[in-house]
Amino acid sequence: MSSPAHELLKRVFGYDAFRGNQQAIVEHVTAGNDALVLMPTGGGKSLCYQVPALLREGCGIVVSPLIALMQDQVEALRQVGVRAEFLNSTLDAETAGRVERELLDGSLDLLYVAPERLLTGRFLSLLERSRIALFAIDEAHCVSQWGHDFRPEYRQLTVLHERWPQVPRIALTATADPPTQREIAERLDLAQAEHFISSFDRPNIRYTVVQKDNARRQLLDFLRGHRGEAGIVYCMSRRKVEETADMLRGEGLDALPYHAGLPAEVRAANQRRFLREDGVVMCATIAFGMGIDKPDVRFVAHTDLPKSMEGYYQETGRAGRDGEPAEAWLCYGLGDVVLLKQMIEQGEAGEERKHLERAKLDHLLGYCESMQCRRQVLLAGFGETYPRPCGNCDNCLTPPDAWDATIPAQKALSCVYRSGQRFGVGHLIDILRGSDSERIRQLGHDTLSTFGIGKELDSRNWRGVFRQLVAASLLQVDPEAHGGLRLTDASRDVLKGRRQVMMRREPPATRGERDRSSTPRTGVAVQPQDLALFNALRDLRAELAREQNVPAFVIFHDSTLRNIAEQRPTSLDALGRVGGIGGSKLSRYGQRLVEIVREQG
Ligand code: ADP
Ligand code: ZN
Repeated sequence: MSSPAHELLKRVFGYDAFRGNQQAIVEHVTAGNDALVLMPTGGGKSLCYQVPALLREGCGIVVSPLIALMQDQVEALRQVGVRAEFLNSTLDAETAGRVERELLDGSLDLLYVAPERLLTGRFLSLLERSRIALFAIDEAHCVSQWGHDFRPEYRQLTVLHERWPQVPRIALTATADPPTQREIAERLDLAQAEHFISSFDRPNIRYTVVQKDNARRQLLDFLRGHRGEAGIVYCMSRRKVEETADMLRGEGLDALPYHAGLPAEVRAANQRRFLREDGVVMCATIAFGMGIDKPDVRFVAHTDLPKSMEGYYQETGRAGRDGEPAEAWLCYGLGDVVLLKQMIEQGEAGEERKHLERAKLDHLLGYCESMQCRRQVLLAGFGETYPRPCGNCDNCLTPPDAWDATIPAQKALSCVYRSGQRFGVGHLIDILRGSDSERIRQLGHDTLSTFGIGKELDSRNWRGVFRQLVAASLLQVDPEAHGGLRLTDASRDVLKGRRQVMMRREPPATRGERDRSSTPRTGVAVQPQDLALFNALRDLRAELAREQNVPAFVIFHDSTLRNIAEQRPTSLDALGRVGGIGGSKLSRYGQRLVEIVREQG
């Protein structure tokens, strides 16, 4: 166990063991070989190049497109005593000059550079005169033309291999799908490199899908279980972002809006508060998130249906990077399905593209309506087989009730047919339930044979039936008529009694103050007897962060504070053995931590 890599992991970073593939990757790269690393968000990619850079002679050059993040990454490294710097357009000429001299002197361990900077003739010639430990290419999927993060400069990074064939390269990404992976290998000339592919499972994230019935109430109920915790609430539109942030502030939450329509200064300020302070809830469109590597995001809530499974996985992946329990919560209803289906059908895209978009949406709907373990469905979408039900999703924790809905489905489909295949759900339910309304009488729908044949279900349950019929493509949304529903080819089998339809029973309606004591709280699990000490340690952390003007999490993670609160080390020696405390942090903060532990006895 005590290889030089382990010794360094403990001494510098304070960790006892490598996770997953880390050790194999570290050994491979330290020995001078190239690697392509696919690891989910929070998997621990950074150590895969940081440790080899420290073990090898010279400076590790890290190419990263995320300028906004470089500063925090470098700060976190300095906190553990690593000589790290960054070079990008935000630095003044004097500072940049100093950093360049340090690179030449050999007094840097790691240097983060933006790709456009790296590719300048000036910087490349600087590299010619320096000792380089390795090249790390972070967010390597930016080389892919098909992804939404495409960065043309990434295509030119092959120059590194051409000019420094003996320097190992390690490319890293959290983007899962096999075509992107092939493109990265090809474009970055890494086909010969060893590929390290981790499972994309995020075991600490609990997945839950709820059916929308009172979206605002449901969101508040969900957030009540996360008081004081940082999280993201995704909304479909800018307007809804603003409304949701206002509503949450009105309820006493520290909520902020983020979308592309806000002035750049406001966006930057809100993002900064989210990163630096504890417990901010960010209400955002999907414009928010790329490169947010705050480790203690405790939940990601979607108040509308996302557009695809990949997007959903990426967005929810921002929760729980620190490996502590986190929640991914999705609230969706029939309206979302109708809207997204309409958007596809009315879109300008060609037939081939529409076909693809329909398939993507169906995949996501399959996930939402599934009665199986959510994790199994999610991972199957990325070509991975999860061997057994996970025990950490809503379907595993409270298995849904399945019921034979063949007869209601027949009634619903036949009602669509008899009324001319152009009405929306509200009206169809009125017919089925035999409502006595002006519109029904005007249209003569009280004379249809399906009028009043569905009194056995209330309208909420009928909505559930229609939603599941649309999700299963037994009904389709008419792109011409406003939200009108039509039969599909598959409807016939149901109407003729040749196909059974099983559905998920709708859960009881939410009634405001629901008892949450049955739902275990997530968040960093601190034992009640350790809570006072944990909170005192958090206060110290906040103070240290303010003194140095850095985010709290670069000083200590919540999990490190919890370890201290549990183990109560009263000497520096004992503190040094706590997970998450390396040599540099021990000498900087050890004394003050130990004092607090002693005070709290
Ligand atoms: P990624 O870049 O893959 O999203 P990071 O490199 O930011 O992930 O690591 C995620 C978190 O896990 C970080 O807070 C990091 O300190 C922690 N971590 C990584 N490797 C280990 C390890 N071997 N032991 C304990 N914590 C680790
Ligand atoms: Zn499960």
